[in-house]
Amino acid sequence: MKIPFNKPPYIGKENEYVLSAVANGHISGDGEYTKKCAARMEEMTGTKRALLTTSCTHATEMAALLAGINPGDEVIMPSYTFVSTADAFVLRGAAPVFVDIRPDTMNIDETLIEDAITDKTKAIVPVHYAGVGCEMDTIIDIAKRHNLIVIEDAAQAIASTYKGKALGTFGTFGCYSFHETKNISMGEGGALLIQDESMIEPAEIIREKGTNRAKFFRGQIDKYTWVNYGSSYLPSDMNAAYLWAQLDNIDLIQNKRLKVWNMYREGLKALAEKEYIQFGEIPKECTNNAHMLYIKVADLEERTKLIQYLKDKGIMAVFHYVPLHSAPAGQKFGRFNGEDKFTTKESERLIRLPLFYSITDEEVEYIIDTIVKYFA
Ligand SMILES: *Cc1c(COP(=O)(O)O)cnc(C)c1O
Repeated sequence: MKIPFNKPPYIGKENEYVLSAVANGHISGDGEYTKKCAARMEEMTGTKRALLTTSCTHATEMAALLAGINPGDEVIMPSYTFVSTADAFVLRGAAPVFVDIRPDTMNIDETLIEDAITDKTKAIVPVHYAGVGCEMDTIIDIAKRHNLIVIEDAAQAIASTYKGKALGTFGTFGCYSFHETKNISMGEGGALLIQDESMIEPAEIIREKGTNRAKFFRGQIDKYTWVNYGSSYLPSDMNAAYLWAQLDNIDLIQNKRLKVWNMYREGLKALAEKEYIQFGEIPKECTNNAHMLYIKVADLEERTKLIQYLKDKGIMAVFHYVPLHSAPAGQKFGRFNGEDKFTTKESERLIRLPLFYSITDEEVEYIIDTIVKYFA
């Protein structure tokens, strides 16, 4: 058997919708499918406005522009995250200030955020790792008291909530990803969720090359013009058509992923009880969107051995982020505040197992059996 780490989600209706976008004669941005996807995102999450973007990286760049991040500003985030979380702010001349994570969820440790705040701090960027929510009540409370903006990296967090409210809707901005490695996809793409109504029009302008074209298309003005700086952050309607097939059938995808996730947890339970491996925790305020199934082993050496063992058996299991503060760009642009108690140590123990829409029960059972054999 050969089992890749990921296969892009495909449910079978994508071709029809993509071809229909072509037949509509509107393959550029903000066509029929883009509008459908944005409306559905708004319905699903309760956000004031959802704008489809070319990626989560770009949604975060838009948020950094809209938040008025300037050179010399500081932005608090975990070091255990994808480069885009930091890049969006570094591009504006800001410095990422990394704080340690909680070992139970691999999310930013909310109790360490306040210590990292200086008079240069502008924003807090919680990352909902594996689609499991950060401690948002505490983070929002800190942000309010210190007058900071919250931008959620909700790249992995589709269909997941904290205290019943959609992730990505707690801060002023929430950024989703529809990259092919995420639960639902459009190849490359994302969405910016906006909670502050006064930010909706500026966001539409930045997304459309600094023009008020969105207002023009709604018939609110009779010609459009260049009104601010901006870029091109709107995806092709062909990509949106692919996403629509998945958004409109999200339960199908989520039910399958949850089933696989539960199979893994059940099948590996005995190893966890014997403390050969450890699972991630899902706090009671949070839901599980089955974005990821990770296990932690004793240490880096054990992880390297297990990954190789699985590879020899045809299974592609992979590690995840190398902490940003240890990367060359992280050292150049940012700093770690406080002690790195868990970020490096826990990241070195973590392995992600194959989890995708088209994985079969047989494949999952084979992976479980192989891991059990390794520890035997
Ligand atoms: C996938 C991911 C991103 C980047 O998403 P793109 O859509 O590829 O730009 C950012 N942050 C996190 C935490 C991610 O998992």
